Amino acid sequence: MVRFGPSGFCDKFVEKYSHTEEMPAWLTFHGLDAYEYSFNKGIRITDEKAQSIKKVFEERHISLSVHGPYYINLANPDEEMAEKSKVYIIESLKKMRLMGAKYLVFHPGSLMKMQRNEAFDLVLKRLKELITLLDENGFDDMYICPETMGKHGQVGTVEEVAKMCALDKRIIPTLDFGHINAFGQGCLKTKSDFEDVFMTLKKYMGERFKKVHIHFSKIMYGDKGEIKHLNFDEDEVYGPNFEFLAEVLKEYDIDATVICESRGHQTEDSVKMKQIFQSSD
Ligand SMILES: [Zn+2]
Repeated sequence: MVRFGPSGFCDKFVEKYSHTEEMPAWLTFHGLDAYEYSFNKGIRITDEKAQSIKKVFEERHISLSVHGPYYINLANPDEEMAEKSKVYIIESLKKMRLMGAKYLVFHPGSLMKMQRNEAFDLVLKRLKELITLLDENGFDDMYICPETMGKHGQVGTVEEVAKMCALDKRIIPTLDFGHINAFGQGCLKTKSDFEDVFMTLKKYMGERFKKVHIHFSKIMYGDKGEIKHLNFDEDEVYGPNFEFLAEVLKEYDIDATVICESRGHQTEDSVKMKQIFQSSD
């Protein structure tokens, strides 16, 4: 099954509404069935608010994911700071349980001044420690979803994320195709470019590669990767295009939630992707 929906409030939504509880009706009206809530700047939601969100999203069968705080950095060489990042992940999951959200997206970490492999090894080590914390806190029914990143100074190539996901069945990838394309200077051009992404997952994760979380938007890039998010109307040069991904999702029977992060047009562009998916074969 493939679900579609926006990340956060799009421009048209904020013209009329201001509460997350108003989002499910908006999504149903647009024929969408997923939403990503953001803890980007902090885990500030109250328990009451979390429970009221859960109620309205469940009533309309909207799948809810959460983007974790931007300051999570599992590659931090400082053990104390890395410990805090693990705590932010656990705290996010606790709130998400109240919200009825099962998927936590997070940015694995920054290279800072390290070599790529050094930073990556630190992320793997912290993820292993996190798995123990997931066990201790009874998080068996939730997924943590490391994201593929768009800037060269960040950990999170497709291969790195695949290796992270190989550690435990509760770790599944967030494939951000705009990031993958920006990191690789426009590397996603043909259908087989998209297929290769899934085959890299399969190499490390086996058949578990069929369950993924997806971010999709067009992203402007330069020498060091990602510059900024665009919407579908603004982009003529950078890509990627959704058409080939739609074909690959169908062909491999991928279970995915596709979250749109287009600049200001998250809802409109989610609808466009759903239409492309439904008409592809
Ligand atoms: Zn992200």
